[in-house]
Order: sequence, then C-alpha cells, then structure tokens
Amino acid sequence: MTSQQSMSQHYDVVIAGAGIIGLSTALFLRGRGLSVMVFDKGEAAYEQSSRNWGWMRTIGQDMAELELALASRPLWRQWAEEGDFGFRRCGLVSLAGDGEEWAGLRSWLEHAAGRGLDTRELGSAETAELLPQFHRRWAGALFAPGDAGIEPDLAMRFLEKKVLDAGVGIVTGNAIRRIDISGGRACAVETETGRVTADRIVVAAGAWSRWVCKTVGIVIPQLRVTASVLRTTPVEGGPEVNVASTRYCLRRRRDGGYTVARRNSSLTWVTPDSVRFMRQYLPNYLKQKQLLRVRAGTSFFKELRLERRFGPGQSNPFEDFRACDPAPDIDTLKETFEHLKEDAPVFRSARIASSWAGTIDVMPDALPVLSPVARYPGLFLATGFSAHGFGIGPASGRLMADIVMGEAPAASAAPFRLERFHLNDD
Ligand SMILES: Cc1cc2nc3c(=O)[nH]c(=O)nc-3n(C[C@H](O)[C@H](O)[C@H](O)COP(=O)(O)OP(=O)(O)OC[C@H]3O[C@@H](n4cnc5c(N)ncnc54)[C@H](O)[C@@H]3O)c2cc1C
Repeated sequence: MTSQQSMSQHYDVVIAGAGIIGLSTALFLRGRGLSVMVFDKGEAAYEQSSRNWGWMRTIGQDMAELELALASRPLWRQWAEEGDFGFRRCGLVSLAGDGEEWAGLRSWLEHAAGRGLDTRELGSAETAELLPQFHRRWAGALFAPGDAGIEPDLAMRFLEKKVLDAGVGIVTGNAIRRIDISGGRACAVETETGRVTADRIVVAAGAWSRWVCKTVGIVIPQLRVTASVLRTTPVEGGPEVNVASTRYCLRRRRDGGYTVARRNSSLTWVTPDSVRFMRQYLPNYLKQKQLLRVRAGTSFFKELRLERRFGPGQSNPFEDFRACDPAPDIDTLKETFEHLKEDAPVFRSARIASSWAGTIDVMPDALPVLSPVARYPGLFLATGFSAHGFGIGPASGRLMADIVMGEAPAASAAPFRLERFHLNDD
C-alpha cells in the first residue's frame, strides 16, 4: 500500500488503475473536494504509463483529440515547474519517406488548420539544419516546436507523489476483482481485501479494462497490441528534437542515450475478442494494414481459458498478471536500430543498452473511451488510449473529472462516448 491515508470503506470515487489516466483523473477529482481511492493490481504505473516513448505530441493526433493534446501542454509545463521529470520542450519533427507519406502529413496539417497549432512544413534546407546528423533525403517534413519529451518513469513517480500529497489514497498490489451493481447503480468494488463502496467508480485499467467491464456485462471492443522499445547507450551530438518516421522514432533521454522504436511494428494475436470485434476493426485495419502484424497461435485458446476465470469471490487473472511485462521483439528492434545507424552515422558507435515491451489498449477508431456507462449510473470508463494516452494524459484526466462531475462540455466529450460502438443496447 502506498497510501498516506488509512483505508475507509466508502469513498466518493473509487478508481481502478494507477496509470497516468487513473492518477490524473484522481488528482482533478480531489481538486473538486471529493474523497478518492485508487486501486492497482500491481505497482502504480508499471504498465503502459512508464513503458512508453515519452512523447507529448500534437502532430498526427486525431482531430477529436487535438483539444486534449493542446490542453495538456500547459499542464505538463506547470507540473514540470513543480518537479524535475526530464520535461523538455524539444519539438517533434515528422519525416515523410515518400510522396504518399508526405501527402498524408500535409492532409493532416490542412485538416488541423485553425485549431491553434504551431505545426508547420519544413523545407529541405530547414530539415537538414534541424537534423544535420541524418544523411537521408526525405520527401517532406512537419515540425511542431511546442511538442515535448518526458521521462515517463520519472513523470509517473512525480505524479504519484503529487496525487498522494493532494490527499488521494492509492492502494497497490490489490486488484479490483469485479464491480458490484445494486438497484441498477454501480455502488461498490470487490477487491482482494474486501468490498469497498463508492458513489462513483471509474475504470482506468488500461489493457485490462475490457475484462473489468465484463464483470458487469458491459462490452468495450478493446484489443491488446504489443509494442517494443529499445534504449541506446549515450550518443554524443545526436538530435535534440523528437524524430518520427516509418523507419524509426526517437527521443533523446536525460542519460544522453535515445529511446528508439518503430511505429509500424506492433504485434497482435488472434484471440476470441479479435474474432468477436472483427466487424468493428476491419475497416481501419484494411486501411492501415502496414501498421500492425497479426499472428495466430495458441493465444486463442489460452485467452479463452483465461476469460472463464474472471468471477466473483475467487482469485483471477488480474492477480496472476500483476505486472504485464511482455517480451520485446528483439529482431525488429535490431533492424530498426540498423536503419537508424544507416541514416545517421552519429549512432554507429552506440549500442542497445536495454529493451522492453508494453501491452497497448486499442479501440477500433483509435480514440479513447471517456464516458459514463448509460446502463449503470455511477460507472465511468477512461480507457482505450490506443498508444497515445501519455502525452494527452493530464487533460484527459481533467476532462474525465468533469465527466464524472456531470460538468463536461458536451462537444468536448461527445467523440469519446461508449455509445458510439452500439454494443450495450444503447
Ligand atoms: C511501447 C509504448 C510506447 C508508447 N508511446 C507513447 C508516447 O510516446 N506518447 C503517448 O502519448 N503515449 C504513448 N503510449 C501510450 C501510453 O503509454 C498509454 O496510452 C497510457 O499510458 C495509458 O495509460 P492508462 O493509465 O490508461 O493505462 P496503464 O498505464 O496501462 O495503467 C493501467 C493500470 O491499471 C491497472 N489495473 C488493471 N486491471 C486492474 C484491476 N482489475 N484492478 C486494479 N488495477 C488494475 C494496471 O496494473 C495498470 O497499472 C505508448 C505505449 C506503449 C506501450
């Protein structure tokens, strides 16, 4: 338990999951004077929130999320004045390898016009000036000077402390096994150590949210995808700016090394859920097949067996998998690092210092669900950030707090409602 409070049995709000979304939501709800308790099945922020690339970006965000991305910038800056977690307003440059990619980037910029962005096109001379380390010729580039780099693990330690100092309780190593419904309302959670009642319950359980919701028969069409990352040894004279391309993505770390990954290398396995939700995912998958690799194998039957083990009053997979720590795809990482060394000789003397992977919670439209659950008053969802919830985490937590209080502007919350999938008789 990391809480500074002793645990009572009733709270205004209970939150499942101490990642960036659960903790940011808790912080803003506490700011409204509510009593808030957060439960995590493992350590706080051990899953996606401390494994990501550490980008806070606007370039490439869905139009529905741009408001959250822009609103998160000042929140991160404000937090960075309160604590040192390696926040750098270093900018992000998105490089197009060919004409098709360049058309995609320009079309995004056209759609985003008038929304208060600082993103602009870079000419080839400007690109060479910004990235003198790279010998490759690019078809085009966009640059957002206000985008930033953050050390995710340090940021999450900072946020955990900030949330505790604000008076939120955080209990780690204690899974929420299921949600209780009484009189048609969500009214309590069953944890490993007993039942805790609450006026409102928020599910912010990342890649596990689908299963937490399943305990009360609510369907969210969420799948899991595994993404791998490497860290290099320190590099003298490497780029300061975050770099995005289909060959590699990188961020300079505080230790002088780089976090490097490839954005189109995520893996997913055929599972009972991927069959159930095929209709929802197929249109986007067919458009962007190159972004995801799908594998079949024993995963289908393993997951089928797991699904049967979520039930009341017994230990369940939340407790077996306290820390979701998948094996990284080393071959793809090595290939990515080779591409980087080919294009930017400054990396040739560096080595791979470590590698890891994370399990990402994806939605069919790659937009999160920030929503009340119509069927059960008192139940709320904040999940499905589809690989970009870290940068927009602060403003997403603030919007979620507004949704829980019933005060969110309808236009801001509308794109994120659960009802858009029509899977819960809504
Ligand atoms: C490799 C990788 C790179 C990424 N890069 C970026 C990036 O550069 N920029 C960006 O914006 N985003 C990035 N993302 C995405 C971003 O990290 C996530 O969208 C974000 O962290 C999601 O936060 P979360 O709080 O919803 O989920 P998580 O951080 O996964 O937290 C969920 C928490 O819920 C807990 N939990 C689950 N079930 C239960 C239960 N039954 N009871 C109690 N607790 C439970 C888990 O233990 C976990 O701690 C990346 C993700 C990965 C994996």
